[in-house]
Amino acid sequence: MNAEKRINLLKLAEITRLSTGGWAAVARVSSVKELKDEVRSCSSYRVLGNGSNVIIADSGVSEKIIKLDGEFKKIRIKGNKVIAGGGVLLKDVLKKCAEASLAGLENLAGIPASVGGAVFKNASAFGCEICGLLERIKFIDGKGAGRALDCGSMSYSYRTGPLKRGQILTQACFVLKKGSSEKISARIRNNILERSRRGFMKKNATGSLFKNPHGGLAGKIIQDAGLSGLRRGSAAVSPRHANVLSLGANPNAEDAYILMTDIRKAVLFKKNVYLEPLIEFWGTFKK
Ligand SMILES: Cc1cc2nc3c(=O)[nH]c(=O)nc-3n(C[C@H](O)[C@H](O)[C@H](O)COP(=O)(O)OP(=O)(O)OC[C@H]3O[C@@H](n4cnc5c(N)ncnc54)[C@H](O)[C@@H]3O)c2cc1C
Repeated sequence: MNAEKRINLLKLAEITRLSTGGWAAVARVSSVKELKDEVRSCSSYRVLGNGSNVIIADSGVSEKIIKLDGEFKKIRIKGNKVIAGGGVLLKDVLKKCAEASLAGLENLAGIPASVGGAVFKNASAFGCEICGLLERIKFIDGKGAGRALDCGSMSYSYRTGPLKRGQILTQACFVLKKGSSEKISARIRNNILERSRRGFMKKNATGSLFKNPHGGLAGKIIQDAGLSGLRRGSAAVSPRHANVLSLGANPNAEDAYILMTDIRKAVLFKKNVYLEPLIEFWGTFKK
């Protein structure tokens, strides 16, 4: 597809899981060649996965937004390996794993991520980190060149994957273990049920807002600071889990930003703890 045809002016709230964000130029790329061309031709860009960890300004963003489509949405199974494109949703990877009797990723069931976003953030749940299951990743660097990393040369840590900002994951290869399809499906279902029970599957609820500080739990610290239920416009601290924001039926990014800033200030003042955001805020915010 030629460059003009792949770019559309879109309201980002319509293509993000957290339903925030004004207008931006969105380039949908379907092949490595298109992705390289796009990266080489623009001065600034951001890659958007499923939009489950970004709150985007109501005024939109000035950078070009790149979305992975076409060949980046494919999954292949090769023995005990799953090779997934960067734009594939984690839930589709899990479905394929259950069909192919491949175990290892079930604890991540229910995380509303794309493979690219999950690897970039080193998504984790119930003791399982996605990057720990990688054999190799392929990506495009900020100059539009194709590169790869093997697991031995990857460094990642709590909620920080091996890629630097500007690098775009195109493909991830996971090494899994052979298991029973029924048991894998049951573990996926149970993890999703457990998330629902804890209130993590609600529409317009975020994932964890802040990183857990060394030796503590961000949610407990926020709760102990008396901030559960704190509200700013449409955004509120979830009464069920204080490290989660409920964005309301009509999410407003400015409200979420103000609330996040107020929580940080209050926790620093009352508990002397500096909270580091996990959720990214894109664009310009007034406060
Ligand atoms: C209800 C809910 C529950 C959640 N539970 C968890 C949980 O249990 N554990 C957990 O770790 N997280 C959780 N999250 C947070 C979120 O799902 C993860 O951070 C996820 O990894 C983000 O993936 P995404 O595709 O939505 O990325 P996006 O939100 O679209 O983007 C996040 C970051 O990844 C970058 N990115 C996206 N695609 C690529 C790519 N192809 N290459 C390079 N960079 C890329 C973006 O530029 C951005 O910097 C939860 C979120 C929600 C809403």
